[in-house]
Amino acid sequence: MELESILLPGIESKRPFVIAGPCSAETEEQVMQTAKELAKKDVKIFRAGIWKPRTKPGGFEGVGTQGLAWLQNVKKETGMYVTTEVATHKHVFEALKYGIDILWIGARTSVNPFAMQEIADALQGVDIPVLIKNPVNPDLDLWIGAIERIYNAGIKKIAAIHRGFSSYDKKIYRNLPQWHIPIELKRRIPNLPLICDPSHIGGNRELIAPLCQQAMDLSYDGLIIESHCSPDKAWSDKEQQLTPDILLYILNLLVVRDTKQTTENLTELRHQIDEIDNQMLEVLAMRMRVSQEIGQYKKEHNMPVLQTVRYDEILLKRIAMAQSMGMDADFMKKILEAIHEESIRQQVEVLKK
Ligand code: PEP
Ligand code: MN
Repeated sequence: MELESILLPGIESKRPFVIAGPCSAETEEQVMQTAKELAKKDVKIFRAGIWKPRTKPGGFEGVGTQGLAWLQNVKKETGMYVTTEVATHKHVFEALKYGIDILWIGARTSVNPFAMQEIADALQGVDIPVLIKNPVNPDLDLWIGAIERIYNAGIKKIAAIHRGFSSYDKKIYRNLPQWHIPIELKRRIPNLPLICDPSHIGGNRELIAPLCQQAMDLSYDGLIIESHCSPDKAWSDKEQQLTPDILLYILNLLVVRDTKQTTENLTELRHQIDEIDNQMLEVLAMRMRVSQEIGQYKKEHNMPVLQTVRYDEILLKRIAMAQSMGMDADFMKKILEAIHEESIRQQVEVLKK
């Protein structure tokens, strides 16, 4: 993909660039007060949801179009860029009419190819940065599909936002961060900027700082963080919103490592890794060959492929051994399961021959 920088004029390219503002625009006063406080803290991009996708009906569904005029005032009075969420073609037209600078697409929209296509069609011929959140479910292809639809509409300023994924079993996170998914996204589209949304991942204030730090350690380009002048009184997502003061405090504590450093000093260690990986592959191929021979024996002696007692024994012994070598049991279990699954598949192939 040939992408252009999403950093609009006047925004420094230093990491992280920060988008902050309330979950929802509630009143003109709340929007303006929050915006002024954030502008004083040197935030350059102001977010506020105008149309709010809510899980259940009856909740606060956003102030609608009137809020766009408030965002226009924010621009005029503070000089910040403004961004809001769009989910339909009507939202896109309205946002553009009111001079919104950047659009974002929410997780409940990026999950739906019809909605994504509708938005893409509405954006045809428009030059505006579009930030695309991951879909609610951990499906990388769906996320990439959403990005491609916007790109195919002619939008070149695109970034992806990692906001975590829904999971039935909610533990400490509101939306489970599955860091490997955006890492793979970045591998497939290397020049795509990544933004982390710690507010919707964490779901509460205490988790914002560590999540921001983790995003920096993983070389994210930007952060989108919910901030409200009186978080406890917020009409949506109040547990996760920060005052502008706390937001600045958290940003100042971040340790941001230099991503542009040369990796020359790592060359030697990387050679070692290459060598070890080669050996690992050879050993694995050898194991598969032996496993095929076992498959052949089972075939000739009319034995079933899956021998669960043997498998249990392998798992137990290897995991214990891995632990004694300082490796994590869950990690080793995953590897052994993957190897076993492939062995079984190969033995079944032998049976078919
Ligand atoms: C939001 O940013 O306020 C929002 C609704 O986010 P998400 O789409 O990530 O749930
Ligand atoms: Mn929110």
